[in-house]
Amino acid sequence: MKTALVTGGSRGIGKAIAQKLAETSNVAVGYSNSKEQAVEVVNSIQANGGNAIAVQIDVTDNDSVEKCFELIEKEFSSVEILVNNAGITKDNIFPRLKQDDWDSVIDTNLTGSFRASQRAIKGMMKNKWGRIVFISSVAGISGNMGQSNYAASKAGMIGLAKTISKELGSRNITSNVIAPGYIDTDMTSFLDDQQKEEIIGQLSIKRVGKPEDIANMVAFLGSDESEYITGQVFPVDGGLTT
Ligand code: NDP
Repeated sequence: MKTALVTGGSRGIGKAIAQKLAETSNVAVGYSNSKEQAVEVVNSIQANGGNAIAVQIDVTDNDSVEKCFELIEKEFSSVEILVNNAGITKDNIFPRLKQDDWDSVIDTNLTGSFRASQRAIKGMMKNKWGRIVFISSVAGISGNMGQSNYAASKAGMIGLAKTISKELGSRNITSNVIAPGYIDTDMTSFLDDQQKEEIIGQLSIKRVGKPEDIANMVAFLGSDESEYITGQVFPVDGGLTT
């Protein structure tokens, strides 16, 4: 059985990804603050006969990343499937965006993905097999009002993923990006019903996305079946960006 790490696996999209990957892999459910929720995700996986552990990983902290990987290696094996899912928003229109909010969003979303990926590829290179899946956003493709920091971080993830794909493809390590549209989680819970209706109006598929819509794509990109696909960006957005 392969071993997967999902950063930000405690809630939302990461939770659904962890639960889906647990159908075929050992899963490390990464959390930063939400320990209780991560333990609940682990319990739900174990109740379905899967193997999972909760591990603290603050992707902004090198020591935390290192400790997390060491723990997973002790408990399961080296990480073979890494899902860079942890992410935050700190929205403001660009003229008013504070540098602290720029820095923290870049540090979490982009540099956090760099830290986890660089640590993960050590084992992947040794094993000559690896799958890295970046959870970016349609904002990283198209930009989004009030999200210059977030969109820049998510666009940066695309450049990082594509470069890793070129450097490590010969070692059987693939690196791909999923760009979710609007998915119903805590991150989008500030939207009221009218705003949701407006979003749905722009979509070909007339509903807001579910975390499971993303998890299904991650399962494929994390599997053997996707071995000839690398360096690609897959919008999973109900048709928003077509
Ligand atoms: P949530 O806000 O529901 O969850 C965010 C997750 O990220 C939590 O598990 C949280 O962990 C974790 N996290 C935050 N900061 C850190 C950190 N420093 N280190 C490690 N983990 C951290 O978000 P979603 O589930 O909605 O989003 C998941 C990913 O999908 C994000 O990258 C987001 O940008 C992306 N996305 C989401 C969309 C949406 O519509 N929801 C659309 C496009 C992309 P904890 O709670 O333990 O602190």
